[in-house]
Amino acid sequence: ARSLLLTRNIYRTYATAARPHALVLLEHRDGAIEAGSLSALTAAQQLGGEVTGLVVGAPEQVEGILSKAKKLKGLTAVLHSSSPQYSHPLPEVVSPLLEKLLSSSPFTHVVSAHSSSAKSLLPRVAARLDVPAVSDITSLEHDTSSNSTTFTRPIYAGNAIATVRASSSIPIKFFTVRSTAFKAAATDDSADVNATAVDPLEVPDSPTQHVKTEITKSDRPDLGVASRVVSGGRALKNAETFKSTLEPLADALGAAIGASRAAVDAGYADNSLQVGQTGKVVAPELYMAIGISGAIQHLAGMKDSKLIVAINKDADAPIFQVADVGLVADLYEAVPELVNKLKA
Ligand code: FAD
Repeated sequence: ARSLLLTRNIYRTYATAARPHALVLLEHRDGAIEAGSLSALTAAQQLGGEVTGLVVGAPEQVEGILSKAKKLKGLTAVLHSSSPQYSHPLPEVVSPLLEKLLSSSPFTHVVSAHSSSAKSLLPRVAARLDVPAVSDITSLEHDTSSNSTTFTRPIYAGNAIATVRASSSIPIKFFTVRSTAFKAAATDDSADVNATAVDPLEVPDSPTQHVKTEITKSDRPDLGVASRVVSGGRALKNAETFKSTLEPLADALGAAIGASRAAVDAGYADNSLQVGQTGKVVAPELYMAIGISGAIQHLAGMKDSKLIVAINKDADAPIFQVADVGLVADLYEAVPELVNKLKA
């Protein structure tokens, strides 16, 4: 009954909304706004209306992030809410705040990166408001006259593209954004976007608690945003050969390292390096698939890369169907030769 009441209130407030007004979740880590949120901001701008950012975190986190958010191109305002409880903004803890914000503010769209946290947060709040959420969109178009937004999103591991229209009967349209489909929003050092504090909403008995975060430390570029990626598959045999074969190539190219699921499952590479349907989706300038067969679940995570190079000893490997440059060779001969040539 409560959510029904909320929904009715929202209908009343937004039924006549002419211009879209998006609320974009600005996620952050280690003092920096996540690259995925910058892409979400670009997507939100394409709605053609106002865009407000939302920063949630512990007081000491929000201070630094806010100064960066105020300089983002494309934002019209920033809302921020700080509480020690938000130091690890679990969806269960942040959702009451978002729900409250939406019940009293003129937002027509709620936008975020397709991150693991937002994938839980947005549908949770959307369900509370009795509206749908559209996930992992790769393009959008908003029609102000009909107050409808049309999205495209890949389905069946990227083998089909669904077109989804959120009509005017949906007062607040929730969507998450595939980062590789939108450029990151830029910074304008002269900008100083208006910021407003929002009272936090304590959740005294949250059903979940943050226990710990374990992140593999690496000096390499982050896989999700790297412009070059060298990925290895099952053919790399074990963790030692994976490292000794791929690292010199990645070093020579200044590339991030990725892996197929077979390589991750066999323990050659960390989980965080998995590329594909159940791993990361990347679209770098250069993607090198080394000893990877090219299963559809792997292609789902890399086929939008600008230049795909494949090295495989099997000329019939499916990876060659998507590769721009294919080399039928034994990787243990081809990769060291390539490294030597790059060094020279
Ligand atoms: P293989 O398919 O075994 O290929 C190894 C390749 O190495 C072969 O083509 C072989 O010719 C080549 N090779 C062998 N030796 C050499 C050599 N010396 N030199 C050159 N080439 C050599 N997979 C992912 O990658 N990411 C995902 O996110 C993912 N999600 C999945 C989700 C589901 C629900 C399912 C069912 C599967 C998923 N998979 C995913 C698994 C996927 O189906 C494949 O099993 C996997 O991608 C295979 O990995 P691979 O190419 O490394 O291994």
